[in-house]
Amino acid sequence: MGHALAERHFSPYETVQKWVDEWFVSKEQFFWRGIHKLPEKWEKCMFLNECWFCDEREDTPEHTLWTCSEWESYRAEARAGGLDLNRSTIGNELVESKSKWVAFEGLIEKILRAKIVRENERKKSGVRNLVRT
Ligand SMILES: [Zn+2]
Repeated sequence: MGHALAERHFSPYETVQKWVDEWFVSKEQFFWRGIHKLPEKWEKCMFLNECWFCDEREDTPEHTLWTCSEWESYRAEARAGGLDLNRSTIGNELVESKSKWVAFEGLIEKILRAKIVRENERKKSGVRNLVRT
């Protein structure tokens, strides 16, 4: 390609301009479609981090662990096992008791494993939970 460019005889400015214009005309439909798809693409990017399982717009580790309704059964199970899932006191609880630390670690692992499995299922099927309007 570099060879072809090197051999090309560059004409005066007007000819180059015509060449560029023709190129844009030939690509016009492509650019037109691309530009009109931008808002849609932008919206997808903005909400790329949305939770796939509930209405939360921003999926964060905190959301997954503490509030996402999808994983409530796992939290309930941990509570039933004696873990007090209180965000403001969990730190102290974990420092004081190794068994609670292990239980909390187990909860995080269970939720993350389940989340990965369910997200992969959805990616494969091409279907996501939410249809936003
Ligand atoms: Zn969620």
